[in-house]
Amino acid sequence: MKKGPNFIEAIVEEDLRTGRDHGRIHTRFPPEPNGYLHIGHAKAICLDFGIAEKYGGKCNLRFDDTNPTKEDVEYVDSIKEDIRWLGFDWEDREYYASDYFGKLYEFAIDLIKRGYAYVDDQSSEEIASQKGTPTEPGIPSPYRDRPVEENLELFRQMNAGEFPEGSRVLRAKIDMASPNMHMRDPVIYRILFHPHHRTGTTWKVYPMYDFAHGQCDYFEGVTHSLCTLEFEVHRPLYDWLVEKLMTGDYKPRQTEFNRLSLNYTILSKRMLLELVKQGHVRGWDDPRMPTLTGLRRRGYTPESIRNFNESIGYTKVIATNDVGLLEFAVREDLNRRASRVMAVLDPLRVIITNYPEDRTEMLETVNNPEDDSMGSRTIPFSREIYIEREDFMEDPPKKYFRLSPGAEVRLKSAYIIRCDDFKKDRDGNIVEVYCTYDERTRSGGPEAGRKVKGTLHWVSAPHALEAEIRLYDRLFNDPDPAGHKDRHFTEFINPDSLRIITGYVEPSLQDAGPMDHFQFQRIGYFNVDPDSTADKKVFNRTVPLRDNWSRQR
Ligand code: ATP
Ligand code: MG
Repeated sequence: MKKGPNFIEAIVEEDLRTGRDHGRIHTRFPPEPNGYLHIGHAKAICLDFGIAEKYGGKCNLRFDDTNPTKEDVEYVDSIKEDIRWLGFDWEDREYYASDYFGKLYEFAIDLIKRGYAYVDDQSSEEIASQKGTPTEPGIPSPYRDRPVEENLELFRQMNAGEFPEGSRVLRAKIDMASPNMHMRDPVIYRILFHPHHRTGTTWKVYPMYDFAHGQCDYFEGVTHSLCTLEFEVHRPLYDWLVEKLMTGDYKPRQTEFNRLSLNYTILSKRMLLELVKQGHVRGWDDPRMPTLTGLRRRGYTPESIRNFNESIGYTKVIATNDVGLLEFAVREDLNRRASRVMAVLDPLRVIITNYPEDRTEMLETVNNPEDDSMGSRTIPFSREIYIEREDFMEDPPKKYFRLSPGAEVRLKSAYIIRCDDFKKDRDGNIVEVYCTYDERTRSGGPEAGRKVKGTLHWVSAPHALEAEIRLYDRLFNDPDPAGHKDRHFTEFINPDSLRIITGYVEPSLQDAGPMDHFQFQRIGYFNVDPDSTADKKVFNRTVPLRDNWSRQR
């Protein structure tokens, strides 16, 4: 179903209609390089790049690297890789807030000269204690009315490294009684001695996010600065700086949308870092992580993530989405693109007693019934096969259409077999099942169309490849792991979020490459993990075929 424009698209369309900014549409995605991108960032990326794509505009990639103490090139590289993977392109417009440190410094000087900024010698604690409350005005700093010349000289000295970190800040002089706390003389520059990953030790003062962001938008010609709702209260400051600093008829404008929040999922970079650092997961790309690198390794496709974002949409309503929607999106996408293959995860040996011992035949099977263009392949059939243990019952209930003594089932793309007997070990476990096959039921054979109720997947025992299968599940078993006052979110880690088993897969998978997607028939969607080698195949379960979580509840 085609949806109408979302509220941001409606704004853009109106701007195009009225000829604002001469019909120019320019957005940016502004990650801070202090962690890996996650599914929440994908929501912002799909909007920023999506708007530019849809309306013939441009989208910049701008690293918001204003805090040298937390940032790293490792993150810069991963962020670029993840955006490209999602299918977006910033062309040659890769920018860094640090590229503008010189111009931002000039803007600060300009504010000082015009009496709109002052150096405050108080500590951050003292400044905080004077901020007031939303209902009570703040107390003006004793330094608020410092002469311009003194401010200029102190700011210069701050940047020359003449004062220790934390000893002085530059504040915008706005309104200590404003009902908006962000307007009560916000700090716009602080002293930091930590070397910056791009500018080294050139700067000793660094702009705060609020001072850098809108100004960078302006330097880059960004028309629509799209960000999440928590910045709504920062908008008056954004606009104040636009008004004070930006001359000419072009002015960037900020619009806020609802951030993504998913149940059973943590989307805080700080907490994700904690999961990595404390070894709760194997790394940022652990397939249980909501990071884009983790989702990619898990087998999510870029299309599934884009479709998911399209389906939840962009509004001003704060809400938590069901992670089941994300799982649905990948299931739907993989249904279209994944080859159907056979894999048995919990093997039970079946011997087809009337099938010649020395015979192997190659049977044809289609790769994807949803898409004829994906063609077909052949799979070996022989006297000994594996089926899933749960597909046989000695004493089945009514309506059990799988294998049981005397019953018939179809083996997918092969024959109908009948169970004649079975063998148990001393402990009563079933170890082998004996069947006979009916040659006439082969595809193209005279009885190919014979009806039986159950169809089972299987692999030929001597031909199957042993494989490591990583069965992933949700990382948390609580819908809101970070939402408990007296319990730490790691207490809600699902102990069954990873189960590693040995399974048997059809031999065609020998040639499967890293990240190839498959549907293990009747089981779920899987992909080849990068740990996979020619000698040992490793598969990740992306999602089961059905949503087991909603069935349990
Ligand atoms: P931090 O707390 O480190 O600032 P952040 O998640 O906001 O974390 P940024 O690198 O600043 O990280 O985010 C880049 C962009 O992605 C911002 O525009 C931000 O609004 C957007 N973004 C971050 N998280 C989400 C989310 N959950 N849903 C939608 N957009 C998000
Ligand atoms: Mg942020």
